[in-house]
Amino acid sequence: MSEPSEKRYSRHLPLEHWGQEGQNKLARAKVLVIGAGGLSSPALLYLAGAGVGHLTLVDPDRIEVSNLSRQILYTTADAGRFKVEVAKERIEALNPECRVEPMIRALDEALAKELFPEFHLILDGSDRMDCKATINSVAHACSKPWIYASASGWEGRIMSLDSRREDSGCMRCLHPLLKDGQIGTCENQGVVGPVVGTFGSLQALEAIRILLGVSTAGSRLLSIDGKTFTTLEHRLKKNPGCPICGSKPTAVDSDEEVLSLSVGDYQKTRERYILVDLRPETEREAHPLPAGFSATVWGAPGTKEPIPQFPDGKIPLLLCRRGMMAYRVQAELASSGVSAVVLKGGMEAWSREEQS
Ligand SMILES: [Zn+2]
Repeated sequence: MSEPSEKRYSRHLPLEHWGQEGQNKLARAKVLVIGAGGLSSPALLYLAGAGVGHLTLVDPDRIEVSNLSRQILYTTADAGRFKVEVAKERIEALNPECRVEPMIRALDEALAKELFPEFHLILDGSDRMDCKATINSVAHACSKPWIYASASGWEGRIMSLDSRREDSGCMRCLHPLLKDGQIGTCENQGVVGPVVGTFGSLQALEAIRILLGVSTAGSRLLSIDGKTFTTLEHRLKKNPGCPICGSKPTAVDSDEEVLSLSVGDYQKTRERYILVDLRPETEREAHPLPAGFSATVWGAPGTKEPIPQFPDGKIPLLLCRRGMMAYRVQAELASSGVSAVVLKGGMEAWSREEQS
């Protein structure tokens, strides 16, 4: 690769911790970006603008008009195209010195294990809890720093993690906090575009800080309420009993199994579970269960409907639209002493499975 161009990066050269040496470091950096949506849009633009030499983008989705309020990489004319392909065009138009590798794939554990070792840093631009859980466990296993962010409603949060640091916990250590409703739901809760954009920009800043060696990943959760401009900081404490990073970690695979189940595995072992449909009526009517399947309908949470009586010996399997809300309900049930499992990817994943 040729030396990064002086003119393009002239505003970086006088900066403390940056300069030509920092610019060369960024040109050699390889960053893996999971998801090409509202967080990744500004993150990718800033990383490319900063001169990061290589970006690999992983996202299976096509652009929809409903994405455009926050996914600022795309325009109305791009609707229907694959996000990663359009993102590659935009990024390379912005900075031809940046190499972009698009992957039209959903991240799963196998792909994460294959990809993560090749990169300096992983940026989590996904909006799915199961995806974030996969990034968390595999990044920990591969000793790679990664930057978590999420936004829902008027709120967003960011945290970077690096298991090479002795005191670094992981996202699972934070689970008690996640119980307090700090994960958004996927059920049309809505999200404010500039809140998502703010956190995508913060992810780019954190990535640059880590790549330049200005700071190591901080294990510090920063959240901002966009309605009040209130900020909250929480220093993540490593949980010695954590199944991922604790002193006696269980295998990644078995840990995943306890928390969630893929559609394929559910179909093989369905007699062990009682399916609990958390979706609102409109959603259930629009996307009914496949023939031969039935579910207990439960309007949790927020409706104050009591927890249903589940048949003895059956494990509740929680179904929502995309799997995110189910994780929150799982945490709520756990605090009431009920163990439940999440159907990974929700009804969307199930529908994809049925169609394939
Ligand atoms: Zn942990």
